[in-house]
Amino acid sequence: MIQAPKGTHDIHGEEMRLWRRVEDEIRALADVYGYGEIRTPLFESTDLYLRGVGDTTDIVQKEMYTFEDKGGRSMSLRPELTAGVARAYIERGMFNQPQPTKLFYIGPCFRYEKPQAGRYRQHYQFGVEIFGANHPAAEAEIISLGHTLLTRLGIEGVRLHINSIGCADCRVSYNEKLRGFLNTRLESLCGLCASRCEKNPLRILDCKSPNCQAQIKEAPVTTEALCGECDTHFTTLRDLLTRFGIPHIIDSKIVRGLDYYTRTVFEFIKDDGQTVIGGGRYDSLISQLGGAPTGAAGFGMGMERLVSLLRQNISSSQFAPKLFIGHADEVGFAAASGITIDLRQAGFYAVNDLADRSVKAQMKYADKINARYTTILGANELAQNTCTVKDMEAGQQETIPLDGLRNFIK
Ligand code: ATP
Ligand code: MG
Repeated sequence: MIQAPKGTHDIHGEEMRLWRRVEDEIRALADVYGYGEIRTPLFESTDLYLRGVGDTTDIVQKEMYTFEDKGGRSMSLRPELTAGVARAYIERGMFNQPQPTKLFYIGPCFRYEKPQAGRYRQHYQFGVEIFGANHPAAEAEIISLGHTLLTRLGIEGVRLHINSIGCADCRVSYNEKLRGFLNTRLESLCGLCASRCEKNPLRILDCKSPNCQAQIKEAPVTTEALCGECDTHFTTLRDLLTRFGIPHIIDSKIVRGLDYYTRTVFEFIKDDGQTVIGGGRYDSLISQLGGAPTGAAGFGMGMERLVSLLRQNISSSQFAPKLFIGHADEVGFAAASGITIDLRQAGFYAVNDLADRSVKAQMKYADKINARYTTILGANELAQNTCTVKDMEAGQQETIPLDGLRNFIK
């Protein structure tokens, strides 16, 4: 028996309905917020992620599915979508359209992680991106979108944490301070963090090891090293969130695991500590990938982690057939097949028997699939152009003209 690869899962049945519900809500919200959908390839040149995500990140250092294609090029399954969407923004000249460009995506990502609750090797992300907007109103807008989505889905126990890690200039003085702090503790850090101290010490704040977390408890915070402009940016964002009525916690431990962030970083965190949405501003990403300097912001949301929060009450009658059309004989079968197709074309969920079952077995099946109405066609009914329709909820039946069927079940 061949099994699904470790860390992957099949989405089906009841759970798929929850996914549909979430995706419908996302698309409806994206429409009114003005975000157009984008689909990018599942794999890209490895270089895109080295440059776009950063070669000191967990994703690139430990988690990427990288392979050589038959032409000898290094390719990687996408570990996240922002880099690919940014590439498309530049490559497709979207900067020539009125700015900002606002996009959203829903699709799978691949990370070679240790599988555990809420952590898969293939997971799905919903995300939004704004390119060509420097004002903190951009972050406020995407945060509002995320917040509205969680509210509409009735999700509780998720809180918004925000922080600012400043621009490249603030980073120089901050990194200096942080290295000073870490230097006396290098021995106690994990090997990876010790090696990050020179090139990207900020990353250490994001390490999952409890030992490293304990070491950095008293580390200097980024918000105290902000330049005037970054400080104003952060204050303006907080004012906007307050005006929108979105509660938020300032959390100096949020730095995000990817190199491309500048200034704002935020996470929506569940009360069990897992992050559902992570995002922020990334003003240097587009230029890092060869485009002109472009203000940008976005977030990524883990679909599995979100769906696990609403594993309840989707009414299954919403997905049950309206009518089961069985047959008692050959002519009945031909008629049932034809009427089923006609009803479907008119938008009704109609079902007929595909398994050559007895009338009794057909009725049993109709009951099991929760068909709202049932009818059985045969030579007698067809000769009189009638059918007897049973209302499975009320338990009553009625004989009506065949051409009145559609109206009857409406
Ligand atoms: P974490 O700190 O949990 O590893 P991350 O910083 O790697 O998260 P991002 O790269 O920001 O996560 O991805 C955005 C969102 O995608 C996360 O907040 C999370 O909800 C979800 N996510 C990330 N990795 C996985 C995974 N392996 N399985 C399921 N969901 C994931
Ligand atoms: Mg991760």
